[in-house]
Amino acid sequence: MPELPEVQTIVNDLQILTGDTITGFWTDFEKAIKTKNFKEEIVGEKIKSIRRLSKNVIIELSSNNTIIIHLKMTGKLTLVESRKLKVESPNEKHLHHIFFLKKNGNLNFSDIRKFATLELISLEKLSEIEKSKGVDPFSKDFTLQAFSGIISEHKNKTRHSRVTGKNIKSILMNQSAIAGIGNIYASEIPYAAKLNPLRKLSSLNNKEIELLHRSILKILTKAIKMRGTSISDYRDANGEKGSFQNQLKVYGKAGKKCHKCDTIIAKEIVEQRSTFYCPTCQK
Ligand SMILES: [Zn+2]
Repeated sequence: MPELPEVQTIVNDLQILTGDTITGFWTDFEKAIKTKNFKEEIVGEKIKSIRRLSKNVIIELSSNNTIIIHLKMTGKLTLVESRKLKVESPNEKHLHHIFFLKKNGNLNFSDIRKFATLELISLEKLSEIEKSKGVDPFSKDFTLQAFSGIISEHKNKTRHSRVTGKNIKSILMNQSAIAGIGNIYASEIPYAAKLNPLRKLSSLNNKEIELLHRSILKILTKAIKMRGTSISDYRDANGEKGSFQNQLKVYGKAGKKCHKCDTIIAKEIVEQRSTFYCPTCQK
């Protein structure tokens, strides 16, 4: 599933579409489209901006409506020069939607698992969705102070929600606390901070909280710089692989040796997701 660095890479690649006009839209999978008259509403509209909201792609239109794209497990956006309705990628049977653009060819939206969705929403709805998300690690609000506040707020939460966020791994994965981090980076960040992902939030001292805060920014920044992690089918908007998979230290490495200390990387299940760590380097 594309996480913050992968979606940010796609959004950066799609900046070329700012100011372009949507001249047509094709789909063979209406079920993914959550808005009635989607095509009628978007054709003829100019693209005002493209940005990321958590793990979603946001395309703001001149009508002030916004297309929100949830890539989910395997959604993929690819810019293709052709203006014709033809498919050039090897995955062509998975291509389900095409935006035709006045200046920049086609924006192809393919999806193998077919969980991805498209929606056209108003500015009000957009701000509601924004409010429901946790703080974005790259917003100016993600200060050390704010992060310490999130830790304190969640360290005693055990009874109410299913996702309790009471250890490091689960707070990193909790989208209403911090937006955009998924399973890969929620393993790599604690490794960078030398902290065991299963550590209870209540056990963290100020220095460790600071280290964790710094590691979130460090790992996500590095992953964006390397254009994301392509361990399964993630590709950028040019159809190219990212390269952060070559930098992974623990994710998917259970049973292999830690590159620093030779201890065997451990795997545990936290809230139904695999969590990887080095029992020696991470305390
Ligand atoms: Zn180690």
